Amino acid sequence: MIKLAKKIVFALLCGLTTLIAQNKTSYWQQHVDYTMDVNMDVETYQYTGIQKLVYSNNSPEVLNRVYYHLYFNAFQPGSEMDARLQDIQDGDKRMLNEGKSRIAALSETEMGYLHVTSLKQDGAKVSFNEEGTVLVVDLAKPIPSGETTTFEMEFKGQVPLQIRRSGRNSKDGVALSMSQWYPKLAEYDFEGWHADPYIAREFHGVWGDFDVKLTLDKTYTVGGTGYLQNPNEIGHGYETPGTKVKTKGKTLTWHFKAPMVHDFMWAADPEYVHDTLQMENGPTLHFLYKNDEKYKDTWEKVQPLTADAMDFFNKNIGPYPYKQYSVIQGGDGGMEYAMSTLITGGDKPGSVIGTMIHELAHSWFQHVLATNEAKHEWMDEGFTSFISALCKNAILEKKSENPFERSYGGYYYLVKSGKEQPQATHADRYDSNMPYSIAAYSKGAIFLSQLGYIIGQDELMETIRKYYEDFKFKHPVPNDIKRTAEKVSGLELDWYLMDWTQTTNTIDYGIKEVVAEGDKTKIVLERIGLMPMPLDILVVDADGNQETYYVPLRMMRGEKENPYTNLKRTIADDWAWAYPTYELIIDKPIAEIAGVLVDPSKLMADVNQENNSYQPE
Ligand SMILES: [Zn+2]
Repeated sequence: MIKLAKKIVFALLCGLTTLIAQNKTSYWQQHVDYTMDVNMDVETYQYTGIQKLVYSNNSPEVLNRVYYHLYFNAFQPGSEMDARLQDIQDGDKRMLNEGKSRIAALSETEMGYLHVTSLKQDGAKVSFNEEGTVLVVDLAKPIPSGETTTFEMEFKGQVPLQIRRSGRNSKDGVALSMSQWYPKLAEYDFEGWHADPYIAREFHGVWGDFDVKLTLDKTYTVGGTGYLQNPNEIGHGYETPGTKVKTKGKTLTWHFKAPMVHDFMWAADPEYVHDTLQMENGPTLHFLYKNDEKYKDTWEKVQPLTADAMDFFNKNIGPYPYKQYSVIQGGDGGMEYAMSTLITGGDKPGSVIGTMIHELAHSWFQHVLATNEAKHEWMDEGFTSFISALCKNAILEKKSENPFERSYGGYYYLVKSGKEQPQATHADRYDSNMPYSIAAYSKGAIFLSQLGYIIGQDELMETIRKYYEDFKFKHPVPNDIKRTAEKVSGLELDWYLMDWTQTTNTIDYGIKEVVAEGDKTKIVLERIGLMPMPLDILVVDADGNQETYYVPLRMMRGEKENPYTNLKRTIADDWAWAYPTYELIIDKPIAEIAGVLVDPSKLMADVNQENNSYQPE
């Protein structure tokens, strides 16, 4: 009996320690180390490569399968990307020619492909099956939790004519924009596999180190992710000043290393100008753009502003963790990559500068805080839009009182259109492109600007810095930004994350009536929309004196600091959400009240502002 009891106690103890251990290590992420050697034929735009991938399974589960993305297969007639482009009502104009799919028109030699020709796992052959843009691999042997396995692969690809983001011979005449170009292991995390087909947009990848050798025609200048390991053999503006670079043969082999990234992009062109700017106590900035008079002025203006923007983000989000950042002319809008961006050349400096600021901000919100964009597109596009609006206001000459005005305008337009879908929608599964764009960019930016209204501006900026510090080099999820804001502000915000991101509930508060109550005044407020909010109310008297009233939302369990420190603030009783009306008593006769305004900051996204103010007849 005693023995048995001892056994039970022992078993219980073991169970308890495993539980504790599990709790301690509740966050995990997979790790990859890529070594690639790639040969590019600049005449045919075909390339071959070998890839060694050391994969660490840090998950608590055994893996029997892995998946790779083969993104270039999207640029083929009949692909899922082509089908969706033809099916969607507001197809991306860049991908259409006179209303018809440009992908459908690609010939054999113009389309893209990426095929794996052989694959081994720890020396043993494994079977694999290409399903459009995803390679399904049944492993030769399972990878146990905590173990590492090595894949050795040979692959071949053809660079498509540029349709979107990557490709050859862009409109700006850039030869090679090489993003999403290699077989890229899909991410496996606490939610399982994320082997999304490439249909329209958004990427997700595994954190790790890259060691990449690119061999191509020696007249081409290359830029992109990673530090060049052999600058003095390469030249092209990378060599130590004063070095005489001697090259042999027709090609050069560029050797790059990139530590802790989740993607690897490169671009190459024989006519790139290569400028560099060494920031004080900061990274080296590289600028690669076509040697053409029409771009020169713009690209000279962009350079010091890139340094200013980098400074702004370093201060307001957290230090950029790499020693290098490259702004490279691609030829299709702008897109963010690890340690770099590809943007269109443009002869108008304004739009190129705006794009540069946006894409640079993605270095924080996507390339270091690597959210799954396909699932939480608002966390990278929205947060990037928010911080780049602040940055533009700080570093450019044109200032605006509310830098988020366009985001709010876009969101109100979307609500009115009746086409809104919750932000929790998968990026590819919006009914059309319009509701995706506005939900991701505008409503995503408002998530933060409005959070500032709810918890206070200083607390918002502290939340952003803490979020970066706590989740850099990880895959944060929506709950992480909410919990960070809760920890910083001490307020409960579950309702905010839920209603704003998972539903299409809207905010509409209004002033129902203002009536005399003896020598006091009663303001009857009403909640018309389903979404809860705390309220700031400005009261102006007949002499023009201003004071504010704060109506806390009961489920927040607390109050923000006074946002209008130069005005007297009265904290009124909580408003519990379920009550449709609320009575605010002002200690002044009605005759003395010249005006009442709900949310003077306009940061609360109230979809009907006509009922937000009162003025006596
Ligand atoms: Zn973006």
